[in-house]
Amino acid sequence: MIGKAGFWTRSSTVLCLGLFSGLAAQSALAADCPGHPDAIGTERTIVVDPREHPRIGTMQYPETLPLRDHEVVLTFDDGPLPRNSDQVLQTLADNCVKATFFLIGEQARANPEGVRKLVAAGHTIGTHSQTHPLTFHKMPIEQVEKQINDGIASVSAALSDPTVIAPFFRIPGLLRADGVEEYLAAQGIQVWSADFLADDWHRISSARVYDLAMKRLDAMGKGILLLHDIQARTAAALPRILHEMKARGYKIVQVVPATLQQPATPTDPQDWKFNPPSESVPIARWPKVPNFVYAETDTLAAPALSDFDSPDGKLLLSPEPLSRARHGGVPLPAEPPWPRAMELPLQTASVTLPVPAESLFAMPEDAHAAFRVTPAPRVAVADADEDKPKRASRGRGSSKYAERGRSRARIAHVAPARHGLHAAPSAKSAVHAAAAPRRPVRVAALKKR
Ligand SMILES: [Zn+2]
Repeated sequence: MIGKAGFWTRSSTVLCLGLFSGLAAQSALAADCPGHPDAIGTERTIVVDPREHPRIGTMQYPETLPLRDHEVVLTFDDGPLPRNSDQVLQTLADNCVKATFFLIGEQARANPEGVRKLVAAGHTIGTHSQTHPLTFHKMPIEQVEKQINDGIASVSAALSDPTVIAPFFRIPGLLRADGVEEYLAAQGIQVWSADFLADDWHRISSARVYDLAMKRLDAMGKGILLLHDIQARTAAALPRILHEMKARGYKIVQVVPATLQQPATPTDPQDWKFNPPSESVPIARWPKVPNFVYAETDTLAAPALSDFDSPDGKLLLSPEPLSRARHGGVPLPAEPPWPRAMELPLQTASVTLPVPAESLFAMPEDAHAAFRVTPAPRVAVADADEDKPKRASRGRGSSKYAERGRSRARIAHVAPARHGLHAAPSAKSAVHAAAAPRRPVRVAALKKR
């Protein structure tokens, strides 16, 4: 009872905190987006520890970000590229949206100002290799390491404070390999795959990018969207995508890495699976089993016989095994004190029900017609078993009840006897009727219908 009360109290507290943070986020949005009342804004920021979850994105991995239903994380690859990336940056600013950018080292070398703009705008900066080779799945590990580290160095070179770079990495072309992932994990770098794409690196229209983004988001309900800020079609589609996301109730979430000053957002392991139980689905959410801490590790003393108290002061079990108790002359254990099966009083057993009156079974003469069977032609009987059915028929003394089959013969035997119209069939004829082959007779009778 105490545990249950504690659980609900805790739930209420969480609910209140969630409500409070939601209100705080909304008021922050209004303050952060002057002149943009329709901005979708950034709902919340989650802090993740790459060492605890080294690979995310359901396109390739079992885990993904611990997002709630209708939460979206925007990611942009391959930048920065002056014109298109700037346009994307402006759209995000107009919407108070924070995203994660996976930068290419060479692009950062060519456009360090673009890197600084991203950082200044408060976006999360990950890296995406030095030259974006689409061979990560088959490169020697030395080359992989050089691509990863050169990329980080190039982005760092654009910044006065390289520590703002997040230990987030997206493998070019998502061409993963075990060695690549193991190396990144050993460096404490999180591999980001994605949950869905908008195919914006293909030669498609911006309208198509928008369509794919929204269609796939609706299908997933939440997740990490992979886009490319270097693509003009993406820059063109982004305002409409954000506008529609807001219209459909989606929320933008920013992701930042855990640091000593900023610990990871508390999550449960199932939060990192894509389909955790929704809050709208009624399931039992039991309180977690606590970790018991024992004050003393000494073993407990064995219980004494006196610990086993029974209502009449006797032990429930004999100290002797039952077999010895039965065969060795040792008295059987005292009878257990629990209630035994009750014996019914004798007078109950003597009560009998009255015999039903014969009139209960009487039938009007007309109703008897319903039981009459049409005599089968003799040829049908002959087809089945020429001798036996004939004798059965003779035993009843009337052609009216001629044999059509064994089951019908049984009806014929019973009905006349009940009405006193015919003598009961002889034992011999009954045996014959019961022994008459059923199937051939029926088939023959059907043939003649
Ligand atoms: Zn890329």
